[in-house]
Amino acid sequence: MLSIEDVQVFYGNIRALEGVSLHVKQGEIVTLIGANGAGKSTLLKTVSGLLKPKKGRVLLEGKEIGGKAAQLIVKKGISHVPEGRRVFANMTVEENLQLGAYLRKDKEGLKQDYEKVYSLFPRLLERLKQQAGTLSGGEQQMLAMGRALMAKPRLLLLDEPSMGLAPLLVKTIFRIIEEINQAGTTILLVEQNAHLALSIAQRAYVMETGRIVLSGTSDELTSSD
Ligand code: ADP
Ligand code: ADP
Repeated sequence: MLSIEDVQVFYGNIRALEGVSLHVKQGEIVTLIGANGAGKSTLLKTVSGLLKPKKGRVLLEGKEIGGKAAQLIVKKGISHVPEGRRVFANMTVEENLQLGAYLRKDKEGLKQDYEKVYSLFPRLLERLKQQAGTLSGGEQQMLAMGRALMAKPRLLLLDEPSMGLAPLLVKTIFRIIEEINQAGTTILLVEQNAHLALSIAQRAYVMETGRIVLSGTSDELTSSD
């Protein structure tokens, strides 16, 4: 479904990615693990169109991806949940979800998709009229994911969804990620906690200073560490 071929990305003069290639098949959960600063977020931003590679290609179903992030959601069905649970703080929970829905190309099945998001995240349903900025950290993460799902992505990019959350909540979020995947959404997951990531992903890529240094099935990587 997704192919990244020999990608090189710079921030000014700083090279953040070098010779990165990666593949995600339809229906998979693939995780990108590695230390802080390895280039994981940069890679997700390159897939979602926020950054342009200087060299190399990003292909979705064989077609090169280009354009702005919002266009990619509409045209290609890629939703990106960035690090740090970005919600529109002054809008209600409901309005945040509507923004996600606004981005989708296909308005069909909208009602069922709201129901689906509410069943995945019952806490959001209880707080539809609440300002998103007053939600707890975990609830904001859920809202950011719910909003991304309302855009009806085929590929969901998740950047450190567990960051800063209590262990019990992390478990809940990861169970929900598995449910989203089982309902048919392909997922590329950035996660610092390798153990956690390998527990739900089929395959993993390990990054170090802008390169992929190891890849394999989660079973292979779990037994090698
Ligand atoms: P990770 O997600 O693995 O923690 P990042 O992709 O955030 O890593 O960062 C990769 C490298 O790019 C790091 O060296 C980081 O300092 C640098 N970097 C990230 N964002 C920027 C930016 N906006 N401007 C300059 N350098 C950046
Ligand atoms: P945490 O313990 O995760 O930091 P908070 O103490 O911020 O969470 O919030 C606890 C609960 O109270 C959350 O469910 C949050 O949605 C709710 N809450 C926080 N602020 C408000 C508010 N101004 N109005 C209504 N509910 C709120």
